[in-house]
Amino acid sequence: MLLKNKINSIKSILGNSKVLTSREELYCYAQDSTNLRENCVLPDCVVYVETIEEVQEILKFANKNKIPVVSRGAGTNMVAACTCPSGGIILNFSRMNKILDFNPINMTMRVQPGVVLKDIKELALEEGLFYPPDPSNYKVSTIGGSIAQSSSGARALKYGTTKDYILSLKVVLADGTLVKLGADTIKDAVGYHLNQLIVGSEGTLAVVVEADLKLIPKPETRQVITAYFESIQDSIIASTSILKSKILPSTIDFMDNNSIRTVEEFSCVGLDVTKEALLIIELDGFISSMEYQIETVLNILQNNNAKDIQVAKEENEIEKIWGSRRASFAATTRLAPDVVSDDIIVPRENLVKLVLGCKNICNENNLQVCIVGHIGDGNIHPQIALDLDDDNQFKQYLDAKSRMYDLAINLGGTISAEHGVGKEKISYLDATLDINSIKLMKQIKKIFDPNNILNPGKVFK
Ligand SMILES: Cc1cc2nc3c(=O)[nH]c(=O)nc-3n(C[C@H](O)[C@H](O)[C@H](O)COP(=O)(O)OP(=O)(O)OC[C@H]3O[C@@H](n4cnc5c(N)ncnc54)[C@H](O)[C@@H]3O)c2cc1C
Repeated sequence: MLLKNKINSIKSILGNSKVLTSREELYCYAQDSTNLRENCVLPDCVVYVETIEEVQEILKFANKNKIPVVSRGAGTNMVAACTCPSGGIILNFSRMNKILDFNPINMTMRVQPGVVLKDIKELALEEGLFYPPDPSNYKVSTIGGSIAQSSSGARALKYGTTKDYILSLKVVLADGTLVKLGADTIKDAVGYHLNQLIVGSEGTLAVVVEADLKLIPKPETRQVITAYFESIQDSIIASTSILKSKILPSTIDFMDNNSIRTVEEFSCVGLDVTKEALLIIELDGFISSMEYQIETVLNILQNNNAKDIQVAKEENEIEKIWGSRRASFAATTRLAPDVVSDDIIVPRENLVKLVLGCKNICNENNLQVCIVGHIGDGNIHPQIALDLDDDNQFKQYLDAKSRMYDLAINLGGTISAEHGVGKEKISYLDATLDINSIKLMKQIKKIFDPNNILNPGKVFK
């Protein structure tokens, strides 16, 4: 716990009104979307930063006094990445939420870290431009959190992840130094790509205070095909067959029967609860290319035992479909007091083994699981509904989790595709990465943050 005089110094840097210290207020920052009780530790204070200079001052002070500093966007990550296991200061970026520049000719946007992804997308659209990374909760999650977690979403299949849309970053280092990394140009081959090193570093290397984003032209049109299957295997074979045909949908998403039923009970959108799997395939591009794409995909689906195939062309129909897919996490929360959503990925050819294997593992551990995923990428999210206060269920959950990770690794995959490591997955790092790559990462961390004040206890032990 921080001594009162330290808190007073922080208040003198920012002013009283920007520093939260009451227990009730701090409690709101003790957790993120991870849910696990063991992560619930109060920070010593939460500070509302409004300028780069304020971030620099706070970091200088924290570094001198070796106080942990944890950056926080919307707190929606699922790996306890913005919790405070050793207390310290939370940097709240909700007031650094301005879009500083939008240049439709260069197709770039300069933003502060607290800008919500939805606002970036909507402004880009006004000029016919597109910011593709789309975590399912893009209506609330921030660009700072997205950069730190390298988040992606359904459209990664065609458009890549956050890292593909970062040109330059302004970051504040642990000692308060402001540095610009990368260039504001579409290409840049000068020196190491330190901007990319920050992407996915989960707030452990530096604090992002400004980002220059790349935008692309918005596809002229999109259509969404939905198709049901009597077996999970058929749905996955159909999805790989689409990719083999050299059509690249912007998304191929998947819901298993438990997810279909849970979402239908939650939102009554007319999903067929009798089917084992649902594929949601979005195709986009020029209007002139759509007929060929749609026909090719429809043929493949028909040849792979798909049932009740529908094509949605109108925006309101399309949004209704995505709305039900995005509702799957919220819907699962109705099944039990808690839900833990995981994130694993394998090469596509091993997806059937992964999905069926995870279902088996959860069954054997008496756990309810709803599996959704961006299966075009080989990425699934087993969402486990349970009561974390039930010791027996918690033990079974831990067993299931480590068996699912082992399975993903044995199938040539890895333990996170888009959620990151945070505190949650640290103990599985050794089994996942080359030991020498972990050594290198630790050396890099030491150079950036020798006093280990930036988000300590995340990514590494
Ligand atoms: C319902 C739901 C659906 C989701 N769907 C997806 C999905 O489809 N794809 C996906 O990839 N993720 C998904 N996520 C996870 C989450 O949305 C992403 O990780 C998101 O990008 C986190 O943004 P945030 O603003 O909430 O960040 P936070 O959770 O607040 O922070 C995340 C990390 O970023 C760091 N951080 C925040 N701001 C800064 C900064 N300025 N500088 C340095 N570090 C910073 C934090 O310290 C922490 O390590 C989902 C989460 C939920 C709850």
